[in-house]
Amino acid sequence: MTERSPYSTIAIDGPAGSGKSTVGAALAQRLGYTYFDTGVMYRAVTDAALKRGIPIRDEAAITRLAEDLHIDVLPPTVADGRQYTVLADGEDVTWAIRRPEVNANVSVVSQYPGVRRAMMPQQRRIAERGGVVMVGRDIGTVVLPDADLKIYLDATLEERAQRRWREERARGQERPFDQVLADVRSRDELDSRRAVAPLRPADDAIILDTTHMTEEEVIERVVALATSTPVPSTAA
Ligand code: C5P
Repeated sequence: MTERSPYSTIAIDGPAGSGKSTVGAALAQRLGYTYFDTGVMYRAVTDAALKRGIPIRDEAAITRLAEDLHIDVLPPTVADGRQYTVLADGEDVTWAIRRPEVNANVSVVSQYPGVRRAMMPQQRRIAERGGVVMVGRDIGTVVLPDADLKIYLDATLEERAQRRWREERARGQERPFDQVLADVRSRDELDSRRAVAPLRPADDAIILDTTHMTEEEVIERVVALATSTPVPSTAA
């Protein structure tokens, strides 16, 4: 049975490993909402650039690729543990976009203003239909500044790197922990310091530190926030 929410558009932002994808997907399922993970779009562009041999530092070429690449996010087409299927120009890239080479380059690609400009209309179109949980870095601040509910998930760098390391290992990608930690740290820095749409909580976001919380606790807390009646503003 789905639960009722007074909010039609829900934005969840946060750094790598903060739990936003897992929590966002679970929340959307509980509410019967569409789940949209905007990170897959930047990942799909990065994956396509690597496969086509386009240099990641070539901003003009990467921007053209972002404008031309047709990205589709569909309900899962294969029962292999995926939350959704991602197609790039018709090719199933659902798992390819999670590989370490993509992790290492995606934050450079997502810095380019032209790439972000190419991705935004599709993200807004999905939100216009309502009943959506949208997850990313700049959803509450830039993509949907009028979202009905904004949540910002955070956790210490060490804890987020641990989560990523465990996830990768579960997928058979065993890497030294220090390497995963260095990747997460470098992505944090690039995502937070970029000039356009940097990672930061919106002024009206509810910030949740999940460092000492289990996945289930975070999900219950976020579902509680999304299903409770908003407190009326006391401002004059
Ligand atoms: O969330 P995920 O780790 O899949 O995102 C991959 C990368 O895509 C982030 O590190 C960030 O550089 C970029 N991103 C972004 N804006 C979003 C979502 C993701 O810049 N809304």
